[in-house]
Amino acid sequence: MESKIKKIGVLTSGGDAPGMNAAIRAVVRAARARGIEVVGVRRGYAGLIAGDIIPMYVRDVSNILQAGGTALFSARSKEFCTEEGMQKAIDVCQENGIEGLVVIGGDGSFRGAGDLSARGIPCVGVPATIDNDISSTDYTIGFDTCINCVVDMVDRIRDTMRSHERCSVVEVMGRHAGYVALHAGIATGATFVMVPEVPCSVVDVIKKIEEGRRFGKTNFIVLVAEGVGHAEELSRYIQDTTGIVTRATVLGHVQRGGSPTSRDRVLASRFGNLAVELLAIGKSNRVVGVKNDALVDYDLHEALAMKREFPMDLYVMNDIISI
Ligand code: ATP
Repeated sequence: MESKIKKIGVLTSGGDAPGMNAAIRAVVRAARARGIEVVGVRRGYAGLIAGDIIPMYVRDVSNILQAGGTALFSARSKEFCTEEGMQKAIDVCQENGIEGLVVIGGDGSFRGAGDLSARGIPCVGVPATIDNDISSTDYTIGFDTCINCVVDMVDRIRDTMRSHERCSVVEVMGRHAGYVALHAGIATGATFVMVPEVPCSVVDVIKKIEEGRRFGKTNFIVLVAEGVGHAEELSRYIQDTTGIVTRATVLGHVQRGGSPTSRDRVLASRFGNLAVELLAIGKSNRVVGVKNDALVDYDLHEALAMKREFPMDLYVMNDIISI
């Protein structure tokens, strides 16, 4: 079927996530395969306002599939949130003949895409954030790579904790969402997982450690999402209260980098291809996602308003089996 549009742009915005490059590659190639011209907008909305635009052909995205980060760079732009900034972005799209835009990023970036769509620049959002905190999709690009990185790091830490019979508190990313801590916690057998979605106190952590001790446990991993507590403080408290030597590790940005897992590469490829399909049939103001492994797309504003229940069953299960 002939595409309804002739030229699209693609940008990455907000925090980078492994797999963004795989999505860019998919967008460029899926578009070119349909005879749609593609340009890359560098540095997110800031680059759009500045007209930082480069043509992208199929070979321009060679060898980026396996690379972390984003070849188009990412940025945050306050100016874009102003009326003047938004108008500049629209002018740049019009001057460059950009008839549709694929926005790869998180929910902040999608709000921007919604504003652009409402002003006549059709946009499709592709969810990419390591936090997995976008309700309209089961998984976001980057989440799987992130949790695998955390698992690898915690496994290494555990070797020392086991050898020296210590406790380790590991702080992971997640200011408002505990998916990284929860999934990595299950996968590493963490004694306790502290997430923003489940109220708990340090007393609960101590109780769990003491319970583990009664069952003969000699080493402990506590995973804490950065939004609920700090590893140093918590470590001190655990050591002072239980007498167990306790060490703190803040994993920081290692969690956001690295080569994407096959799962993230496949997801990103599917999302990128679907985003182009939607623009090609004249859709606008959509967000792509995956539900029960099937691709879905939603109205952008409906997607942003969706609420997802935190998987308490997984949290409770971890609590049961981590003694
Ligand atoms: P992540 O949370 O993973 O970092 P994100 O896309 O949510 O990703 P934000 O920094 O929230 O990251 O948003 C990226 C950019 O999107 C902002 O710098 C801004 O230019 C634009 N943006 C954010 N919120 C809005 C909004 N409400 N309206 C218009 N544009 C917005």
